[in-house]
Amino acid sequence: MSEEDVYRLLERVRTYYQHLSRSDELCDEWFRILKNYEVSEVNENLDKYLSVERNRNRIPMPQDLIQDLWTIEECQQSQKSYIVNCNLCKRPMTLENYNKHYDRCSSIHYLLQIMRLQGIEVEYKDLASLNDNKFNVIYEKYKDY
Ligand SMILES: [Zn+2]
Repeated sequence: MSEEDVYRLLERVRTYYQHLSRSDELCDEWFRILKNYEVSEVNENLDKYLSVERNRNRIPMPQDLIQDLWTIEECQQSQKSYIVNCNLCKRPMTLENYNKHYDRCSSIHYLLQIMRLQGIEVEYKDLASLNDNKFNVIYEKYKDY
């Protein structure tokens, strides 16, 4: 969350708890705790907090609004290590590597078809092992056949 996000969040909280003070210190402290979290998730947690009857007269603390949430960094880490299978070649890989792989993989599948039609003996691994420059030269050469 940005400072602006935290400021807006506090304005939201104040519509329910009008006696919440309006000070820079309060804003700074909330920002210090909430800055590593996603604004939409914190706002959702405020909705949940507000929906609980016994919270009617209890001003939320920033800690109440990050319960069960992952920090932005934790989310990114978990995405990096999340394993997916390419739906073209079925190889497993991390989500972080998927987009780059998929671009190359779909190009290779396309080239293999064209090159084999022309009687050129080539294997998936031959094209997969090329660096980007070499691969692009071959791709440009055959793609329009
Ligand atoms: Zn693949």
